[in-house]
Amino acid sequence: MRIENVRTILVDRYLFIEITTENGLVGLGEGGAWGFHEATIGAVEKFKNYLIGKDPLRIEHHWQYMYRWTHFRGSAVMAAISAIDIALWDIAGKHFKAPVHALLGGKVREKARCYYHVFGETKEELFEGVRNAKEMGFTAVGHLTPFLDTPREEPLYQSHVEMITDAVETVAQYREIAGREVDLCIEIHRRLKPYEAVQLGRAIEKFTPLFIEDPATPDNLDEMAYIADKISIPLATGERMTSIWEFQMLLARNAVQLVRPDVCIVGGISGARKVAALAEASHVGVVPHNPLSGVSTAACLQIAATAPNFVLQEFPGDVWNVTDARPDTGSFLIGAALHDGEGFLTISDEPGIGVALKPDASLNFPYRPREVLTRLHKDGSVVDQ
Ligand SMILES: [Mg+2]
Repeated sequence: MRIENVRTILVDRYLFIEITTENGLVGLGEGGAWGFHEATIGAVEKFKNYLIGKDPLRIEHHWQYMYRWTHFRGSAVMAAISAIDIALWDIAGKHFKAPVHALLGGKVREKARCYYHVFGETKEELFEGVRNAKEMGFTAVGHLTPFLDTPREEPLYQSHVEMITDAVETVAQYREIAGREVDLCIEIHRRLKPYEAVQLGRAIEKFTPLFIEDPATPDNLDEMAYIADKISIPLATGERMTSIWEFQMLLARNAVQLVRPDVCIVGGISGARKVAALAEASHVGVVPHNPLSGVSTAACLQIAATAPNFVLQEFPGDVWNVTDARPDTGSFLIGAALHDGEGFLTISDEPGIGVALKPDASLNFPYRPREVLTRLHKDGSVVDQ
């Protein structure tokens, strides 16, 4: 079996790649450097020349070849390698007529507990989102910021005391609505400095969140270790990391209790399962990062199905930020994972990753590129996004 073609497909906010074989198999993957799809496409085009004519079943060999042939890595290159890796696993599953999880050692669980995204530009919208998630049967809610997802055009300013006090009151309200049936995954979106994160983290410990995510910018792993050491809430981070070596350095510092590998930038299914194994050796849990489409969800579920230390799957569902409305998953995908109404996602037993792109997807949902736009503080300085 030989690879015949590699092509990129842009649909709405998403970048997919399709790899076809001479005997008619089609593998589907997704790239996760969502701010730089154009750069990822350039990297895929580069790798295409290498891949055509190769045996698609030598997944690890191709991964190593693409990763090691030259000096340069980073998010766009790793998004390309990730998308290719996912597509090659999809082909392998179809070739062996087995779901990918069967090729990875088989399922260690039947379904994957998930958390639902909550968005809102006002506190009322956020509280309503928690209420809705609970009513829909979700047992965890995430993407749940104690700050507001205000439009990026609005300058950011609160006094320190107002910022911390407001945030604590908001988390208290989340807990009151969620009760004990629903876990809270608190997402800081890198909004705080390490010293602010410690103060807020300690103040919300009494509400028993399942985790606090990216309390500060993840550039400095020692700072993350400093925060993790000073608060009792499990710390989750890793969504920007593009290699197993970065995760190893995070784990070596005891800077994380729940790793958040993104299967679409960390090297695909091959990269994410290695991160899960590294974490397993430290009794650290895995919460695969997944803000993308149902293709990413399907790839994440191969990790959820096979990693003993899997904890929770991020599930954006079909509801997205009100300022960034996206099409329903089912409108451009066939076979996307569904919520079972009790807080779990079904794990497909179809060959490969179990999803396919509808042929008219890019026609029906043309690409909407992201413009370079970020939030400023009231004084004009730039907020990290
Ligand atoms: Mg996050």
